[in-house]
Amino acid sequence: MTYQLTDDQIQIRDLIRRVATERVAPRADAIDRSAEYPHDMYALLKELGLFTLPFPEAYGGAGSVMSACIAVEEFGRVCYNTGYLLVVQWTPFGAILEGGTEEQKARLLPGLASGELRGALSITESQSGSDVSGIRTTARRHHQDGYVLNGSKIWCTNSHIADFMLVAAKTLDEEGKPLGINLFIVDRETPGLTIGREEDKMGARGVASCPLFFDDAIISADNRLGPEGGQGFKVAMEALNTSRPIVAARAVGIAQGAIDHTIRFIQDRVAFGQTISNFQGVRWMVADMVTQTEAARQLVYRTASLVDAGVTGRELAPMAAMAKLFASDVAMKVATDAVQLFGAAGISNEYPINRYFRDAKVVQIIEGTNQIQRNIVADSVLGRVKKN
Ligand SMILES: Cc1cc2nc3c(=O)[nH]c(=O)nc-3n(C[C@H](O)[C@H](O)[C@H](O)COP(=O)(O)OP(=O)(O)OC[C@H]3O[C@@H](n4cnc5c(N)ncnc54)[C@H](O)[C@@H]3O)c2cc1C
Repeated sequence: MTYQLTDDQIQIRDLIRRVATERVAPRADAIDRSAEYPHDMYALLKELGLFTLPFPEAYGGAGSVMSACIAVEEFGRVCYNTGYLLVVQWTPFGAILEGGTEEQKARLLPGLASGELRGALSITESQSGSDVSGIRTTARRHHQDGYVLNGSKIWCTNSHIADFMLVAAKTLDEEGKPLGINLFIVDRETPGLTIGREEDKMGARGVASCPLFFDDAIISADNRLGPEGGQGFKVAMEALNTSRPIVAARAVGIAQGAIDHTIRFIQDRVAFGQTISNFQGVRWMVADMVTQTEAARQLVYRTASLVDAGVTGRELAPMAAMAKLFASDVAMKVATDAVQLFGAAGISNEYPINRYFRDAKVVQIIEGTNQIQRNIVADSVLGRVKKN
């Protein structure tokens, strides 16, 4: 079964493709080189109302993860960093929508949807990325109505500009007894929070990732997402499954963009008296690149359609994992082959293609590495590993 876009979705895609080609593509190289946050691209996405796409209608959105995927693919095709501006806005949104109180939703979701507010999600610490249970940041009950946060985080993307961050911490009672992990909404102006120096990154360079340091930062209880004791965190993590097809769509965009550049290059480049696009070895490589990219796109569309149909939990998790791991492995393979077909020009920074290669590598690692996605898929068919 293939997933055909509806007329409305085709309209959205064509509109975004035009904007991406005319207004975003000319900025892509400069954003990557300078590693400066693209304020102009943020303003453009906001002006076009694109942040609203996956938000429920109650928050002014289109309620469509499929449309969100289409938008991210089209921007990722020309500029990974502009697509990233959308993805990074939508990561905290899912967690708040699923795990937040009505007051928290009313406080944060309209601003995230319109682009007035920017958020970030902070889970990773220096000693634990994949192993979330190993985090050491603590939120100790302070008095009846609050918590004291202590610890440090790394790789919090968008934190240099975000109005608030969702921060994972081990919640402790007044005596220091562990109660489970919770996410806390932390305003950037919170006393005791310091945002550290931006990482110097190989890819995804336009949106900074920074360490966070918490030194007796006081957080009120109405900023805890969900109930104490780990349940709230579980709900929020499950919500990340719904944004995983959007991350995967970014990888499809990278693959498609690499193909676009490759086709132009090989039809122009001459060797042995003919354009290199005449060589069968080259043609088959391109055929494989296109085939793999279309397969990845179909997996993303299928997963997005499941999310839009309300599928959640154990039914959604392996599909979302498959979409993310397959699309990002395809993006890496396609971008690697694209660099190969550019020859030495693929290594030169004069050409855009190595940007796709660098950005593709990032997607295999972020939002749960591809090994972790494979664990999710394997668990879904084999059950969790039991020690003999
Ligand atoms: C550009 C970028 C942006 C990021 N943004 C954010 C952000 O906004 N917020 C945030 O919280 N984090 C963010 N991260 C961090 C990211 O989520 C982690 O890097 C990722 O989860 C992997 O954790 P790690 O780097 O500690 O690797 P580790 O967990 O130490 O893993 C190292 C290697 O071991 C493998 N491995 C680990 N456990 C297993 C296992 N059980 N089975 C098989 N293989 C395994 C991993 O797949 C990996 O290949 C970002 C990272 C990057 C690169």
